[in-house]
Amino acid sequence: MDFGYTREEEDFRERLCKFLDQELTEEIARQNWEDKGVGPEAREFSRKLAANGFLGISWPKEYGGQGLSPTYDFILLDELGKRWGAHVPLDVGYTMVGHTILRRGSEEMKKEFLPKIVRGEIEFCLGYTEPNAGSDLAAMKMRAVEEGDVYIINGQKTFNTEAHYAEYHWLATRTDFDPNIPKHRGISLFIVDMDSPGITVRPLWTMSGERTNEVFYEDVRVPKNRLVGEKNKGFYYMMEAIDSERNHVFTPCRLMPILNDLVRYAQETDFNGKPLALDPRVQDLLAQAAIEMEIAQVFAEHSRWMESNNIPMTYEPEVTKIFVSELEQRLVNAGMQILGLYSQLEEDSKWVPLKGRIEWYFLHSFMTTIGAGTSEVGRNVIAQRGLGLPRA
Ligand SMILES: Cc1cc2nc3c(=O)[nH]c(=O)nc-3n(C[C@H](O)[C@H](O)[C@H](O)COP(=O)(O)OP(=O)(O)OC[C@H]3O[C@@H](n4cnc5c(N)ncnc54)[C@H](O)[C@@H]3O)c2cc1C
Repeated sequence: MDFGYTREEEDFRERLCKFLDQELTEEIARQNWEDKGVGPEAREFSRKLAANGFLGISWPKEYGGQGLSPTYDFILLDELGKRWGAHVPLDVGYTMVGHTILRRGSEEMKKEFLPKIVRGEIEFCLGYTEPNAGSDLAAMKMRAVEEGDVYIINGQKTFNTEAHYAEYHWLATRTDFDPNIPKHRGISLFIVDMDSPGITVRPLWTMSGERTNEVFYEDVRVPKNRLVGEKNKGFYYMMEAIDSERNHVFTPCRLMPILNDLVRYAQETDFNGKPLALDPRVQDLLAQAAIEMEIAQVFAEHSRWMESNNIPMTYEPEVTKIFVSELEQRLVNAGMQILGLYSQLEEDSKWVPLKGRIEWYFLHSFMTTIGAGTSEVGRNVIAQRGLGLPRA
């Protein structure tokens, strides 16, 4: 196992860092970490990333990529994460959808969508969860029925985070209604234009003020060429993609700016006439966070190395997902203790330390062990796939 980087990869990182230090302004970073890149500057930033050749580097040349190793994509995600930029506006399309289109989409679909993703022009929202189908995703009820050259889709999705600004819905629906087949067998994936007649998007607000959405479909007509891969194979495609999605989304580097902020705060803040950094309890909290950051990075490098070398992954990306998301909670909890009562002040308070990031991150951190699959379900996966234990 070799986690080292080649000369070319290091040169790429250097060029990228120069670009990010110039272009990733504080305002864009704020739009990325608070508003998931909805803001116009954040979207413009994505286009610039693309124009400078930093997006889709591992994708084939014929679809706008550069045909290089996925390591370049991981370097990009790491360097963005280190600068509060982990949620690039192209979150879903770039880190999730594109890989499945590449593997399973028709040639027509690849030519239509992949170059636009690589140019930073379009975004997708993820349409999996329904009010009664979250962890038990295969229980979804949304229906797509064939009629001539279209599918007519009816039903409801919930927690579809980018739905209020994405151009396309990456949608999972039921396409086989036989009650006697296992429920995961009758699901298909579609790409749907979000401005199709019959789609309604309603906001749902999280306690940290982030927007996610409910999406309603009423007789929405979707052309048959928007079916991804084979009919009724959607659930397999979703599961096939999940490991790579975890590798791309849960980069431990996105926690580094929080730790760096806390170290700087401890060094620059006096408490009872002494620097906070001299307090052994503060040192202990920060050192523990640093240890866990190192561990998270090793987990991430391991499963990325497997992906880059085409080694089948079973439970390794799940380990990273659980460790990184739970570390995020421990880290901001440490931040709450170090900042004391000031940690509860919001961004607009005149006494707020660290621009209110710790208060925001604390509230945000609860969703990290729910979104993209809960920690409990992830532990089931590790128990069963990693340890060979039976399904409960
Ligand atoms: C802020 C936010 C953004 C999201 N964005 C999206 C999005 O863009 N697109 C999308 O499709 N979805 C999205 N989700 C949905 C997310 O994937 C689901 O919330 C998640 O999969 C859990 O499903 P649920 O909320 O229905 O909880 P449930 O499945 O009802 O789970 C409730 C509790 O029971 C536990 N539980 C359930 N089953 C088991 C089991 N078998 N073993 C042990 N424990 C179990 C869970 O761990 C959890 O603690 C988002 C969620 C949040 C909170």
